[in-house]
Amino acid sequence: MLGLQDSGLPSDAPRQRTSLDPDDWQTLRKQGHQMLDDMLDHLKTLSEKPVWQPAPSSARALFDAPLPVEATDLAEVHAIFRDNVLPYGSGNIHSGFMGWVQGGGTATGMLAEMLAGGLNANLGGRDHMPIEVERQIIRWTQQIFSFPDTAGGVFLTGTSQANFVAVLLARSRKLGAGVRAQGLSSEPRLVAYASSEVHGCVPRAFEMSGIGSDQLRRIPANAAGQIDIAALERAIIRDKKEGHMPFLIIGSAGTVNTGAVDDLIALRGVADAHDLHFHVDGALGALGILSDDLAHLFTGIESSDSLAFDFHKWGQVPYDAGFLLVRDSAWQRQTFASEAAYLSRAASGLAGGDWWPCDYGPDLSRGFRALKTWFTLKTYGVKALGDSMAANCALARGLAHRVEQEPALRLLAPVALNIVCFAYVGAADDAPPEVNTRIVERLHAEGCVAPSLTHLNGQPAIRAAIVNHRTRQADIDALIDGVLKLGSRQDLLQC
Ligand SMILES: *Cc1c(COP(=O)(O)O)cnc(C)c1O
Repeated sequence: MLGLQDSGLPSDAPRQRTSLDPDDWQTLRKQGHQMLDDMLDHLKTLSEKPVWQPAPSSARALFDAPLPVEATDLAEVHAIFRDNVLPYGSGNIHSGFMGWVQGGGTATGMLAEMLAGGLNANLGGRDHMPIEVERQIIRWTQQIFSFPDTAGGVFLTGTSQANFVAVLLARSRKLGAGVRAQGLSSEPRLVAYASSEVHGCVPRAFEMSGIGSDQLRRIPANAAGQIDIAALERAIIRDKKEGHMPFLIIGSAGTVNTGAVDDLIALRGVADAHDLHFHVDGALGALGILSDDLAHLFTGIESSDSLAFDFHKWGQVPYDAGFLLVRDSAWQRQTFASEAAYLSRAASGLAGGDWWPCDYGPDLSRGFRALKTWFTLKTYGVKALGDSMAANCALARGLAHRVEQEPALRLLAPVALNIVCFAYVGAADDAPPEVNTRIVERLHAEGCVAPSLTHLNGQPAIRAAIVNHRTRQADIDALIDGVLKLGSRQDLLQC
């Protein structure tokens, strides 16, 4: 009647497409396989390519394009990516990448990301299996770090967020859940402690929390780069005397500059003596506990009240996959749980489920970071992951040894883990420190190895952070050879 077909549209009306699914799944399938093959080829042939190369202006211009109102074929869009984005990454998947602390990712992680994207799960809560996958990871991290059954955890973007959340947990532990509504009063002031080597995201966490980064006392580090325990205790006693309210100690399990691990047992003792929350920033180092060779470095980590770490660094899970493990999940609930009507829980059915991550952290809509982590832990096993970390540390020790043997190089910090800081000083110890800045820039441009530059005691230092499971002795040799070659060049000294 009236020319209506089954679709409910008049037969002469132009067909309105509102679904974004393809008409032709066969074409999409073929294109999808092509994209997968391209990416696997890229990963397989990484070593034939430069670590990094600057993107040409033609590539940048393609990303200053008008807003696309009309459709473009997927194959064409993929070609733009393949030719203009893929070759110009930052290089952290490459074996020669040693700049900063970045994970290398894996092909397995990539495939899991694809599955997660297809499922498009929202991990805020409710009763579905993806939630169980995240709970599995929490239980495994409890086991890895010997945390008690009361422990809880949550995936976050990275350790920057995990440290921030830990500050909020410690705040509500000290002041009670009422602080959520009342906010901070000006007296007495909350104060916290970390070493001068603490990562820059920690003072920022204090800024974001409203407590203020001035309330984070930066305690001097000893020659090994660890927090000076006696100085810490003096600072706490002084603050108490002055009427402040100490509430939190943040230890580092792998400092960003040199990889130093604080004396975690001593920090637990100080926290107990003064009734403070003891948080550990283990972003780059903590997963090293998976290696039998390295585990002893982290003694005491099991006694922390909360622990932030990144699966996306040494765990090789693709970005992003930060994690916060908490000794008592009740601290998370008292900081975050709320009773919004639209989030009302049912006893059963889809709106059921007894663990809603939105009660345990700041996010409501959350992606399925747990899946790529689960795939990584399952397919490789924690032993292989730990072995890869131990191999990184062995390469770092070898590099440090080589540096000490070269008259033109100087080791600038003890090597506790996988980070080596050194400088080109010249055979007669006469090279200006700034030459190191230029050496690092040249190495990046040459594209064979990419260390980063840091400053230790105000001096420029070449920093090799060996995090990638693909890094081999040949990459270390290329770094040493490159630094020696560039350092000896007069033009580099003069420019
Ligand atoms: C990388 C790092 C962070 C920050 O972690 P993101 O995952 O980048 O947010 C914090 N602390 C240390 C020691 C780090 O190495």
